[in-house]
This record gives sequence, C-alpha cells and structure tokens, in this order.
Amino acid sequence: MKKTIDTNSVLLQARDLVKHYPIKTGVIRHTTGFVRAVDGVSFDLHPGETLGVVGESGCGKSTLGRLLMRLEEPTSGSVFFDGVEMYRQPLNGAAMKKLRRNIQIVFQDPYTSLNPRMTVGDIVGEPFKIHPEVAPKGSRRAKVQELLDMVGLNPEHISRYPHQFSGGQRQRIGVARGIALNPKVLILDEPVSALDVSVQAQVVNLLEKLQAELGLAYVFIAHDLAVVRHICDRVAVMYLGRIAEMGNEEEIYDRPTHPYTQALLSAVPVPDPTLKDSSNQIVLTGDVPSPANPPAGCRFHTRCWKLKAQGELGDSAFTACSEVLPELREHRDGQRTHLCACHVPGPRITG
Ligand code: SF4
Repeated sequence: MKKTIDTNSVLLQARDLVKHYPIKTGVIRHTTGFVRAVDGVSFDLHPGETLGVVGESGCGKSTLGRLLMRLEEPTSGSVFFDGVEMYRQPLNGAAMKKLRRNIQIVFQDPYTSLNPRMTVGDIVGEPFKIHPEVAPKGSRRAKVQELLDMVGLNPEHISRYPHQFSGGQRQRIGVARGIALNPKVLILDEPVSALDVSVQAQVVNLLEKLQAELGLAYVFIAHDLAVVRHICDRVAVMYLGRIAEMGNEEEIYDRPTHPYTQALLSAVPVPDPTLKDSSNQIVLTGDVPSPANPPAGCRFHTRCWKLKAQGELGDSAFTACSEVLPELREHRDGQRTHLCACHVPGPRITG
C-alpha cells in the first residue's frame, strides 16, 4: 500500500518554539543562567508525512519531541494541532484528552520504556483505561491482540512479560502502545537507536507499513542522517537548539547547502569503505558548544569548516558569521528551493 501525503493541510504546526531550562545554583537555588535546549523552531507537518529531525546529542531534538506532545511547557512560542493552539491556557480536560489521544510517542529505549512488572497485554491496553471509548472493557483483549498482530507479534504472547522478548520485539510493543488510540501523529524519539543494525531495518519497515495502512504522520527523531533517509519525506537538521537546514529528502541528501549538513553527510559510512573518497570527507573539529553558553552569531561558527576555509582568507561574505544569527531562509538552487540558516549557503567547496 502506498502512503498519501496531504500537502494542502497542516496537522501539526510549531511556531518559534523556545524551551530554556533555568540553571539554579547555591543554597537558595538562584537562577544563574539558562540552557537553551530549543531556541526558535518552526515547521509544519502534513497529514501522512514523515518529518525527520536529525542532530547530535544535546541539539534539542528530544526536547522538541516532548514539547510537541505537551510533556513540557515551552518558554515561548506555539504549537497548533489541527488548528487548535496547544499551549493556550487553560486547555480544558476534554480538549487535553483529545490532544493526548491524537499525538502519541514511542520512546528510544525499549529496555527501559516498558514496565517489567506488566504483561504485554497490560502495557498495550493501558491507554484504553483513560480512553475507554476506543476499546470498551469487554473488547480490550481482542483489541490488544489485533494490535500485536499489526506490529508483527504473536497475539498468543499477550500474557508474556517484556523480558521474554528481544529488543526489536520490545520496540514493536512500544509501537503497538503508540498506535493503540488511533493517533494522527506519532513522535518517534530515536526508535531504532538502541537496536542492532539488522533489526533497525525491520522496525523502519514496520513503521512504513503502519503509516501506509493508518495514514499516520511521523516526527522521526534520530542522530543519524543515514537512518532517516529511507523513511522521511522531509528532514530538519538541528544544531544547538535551532534548525540549520530543512528540505525534502532529495534536497538534503543530494544538494545540502548548510556546512553542518554537508559535514554530517560526509561522515555517513558507505558499505564498501574502499569506494569512499577520504579527501571528500569533512572532519569537524571541536566539541558542540554548551547550550548554556551558545556562541554569538551563527551557532555553528566555532566549528564551521567553510568559515575556516574562506573566512580566514579574508572573504568579507563571512564577516557576519560570528556576529549575526542567520535566520532560516529560502535558498534557491536551480529549480529547487529549501530552507537554510547560513549567511553563505551553497554547494560544498571541495579542495
Ligand atoms: Fe558557517 Fe557562516 Fe554559514 Fe554559519 S553562517 S554555517 S559560520 S558559513
């Protein structure tokens, strides 16, 4: 079954989303600074679409995932689901319940995200206690077995405990719980990162199958561009709490214009390393700066290979890099347009 994306409507919309955590020190817990986990993120998600959110550890992608389903309150900014602003206070109980039902999450670690004392039937059926309208009491066992079957597990194993399943099977249990309430959006927070490579592909294939069958929209969070390529329609690359580049799969992978995306792609391993031209590889030096003290100007300027290559030669186009924060703007490359936050976007400079 082929999936369909309705690009004429917007299901989930983030606008200038900010989440700063206070840093408290001393006996009286005085606020001495802020960790800028998410710092001005905007995007639209269409029904049936998969948006990949990719970046290194600490870039704010998991915080973004939690903000999207209101597990955290943002410092500022808005999220709209089906046109309703999620953070408008007060959201009454019924509206909140509807929201929770329509946006579900699958967590990264299938070893710790499932309660070891509960059977698979109890884990997958737990959401029905809060939303009995989806599966009334008498029909719950059959509904859970149907869900287990949908995710490729044996429905007869409904009374088993999580430790009796492999890592990939446990993640399938997490997915079954995620789709139990027929949500419209599934936030997938690094759903395959803790799995063996051979099992990752099986889980990704399962997610694709479910998306085509159920018309789900995914926000697929990952730290590896290679993992999301197969499944994502669009990709947002995050760096230090902000989106560095966003475009469709082809634009990001074949024509990246942000130096950070170009560096990430050059680091993607190829099946036969002898075929990879090592002179084409961009090695980023230095660590990711602390989100508690991000650099002025472009967040990436302390590690930008392009700035080092051109700026230090005196190219005036680069003088803004350390002073002015680049906004996410449309970048036109031939017939294609996508979004890039760089003062000097463009194809890779190869030496
Ligand atoms: Fe590099 Fe400057 Fe672009 Fe930032 S704005 S990515 S420092 S070239």
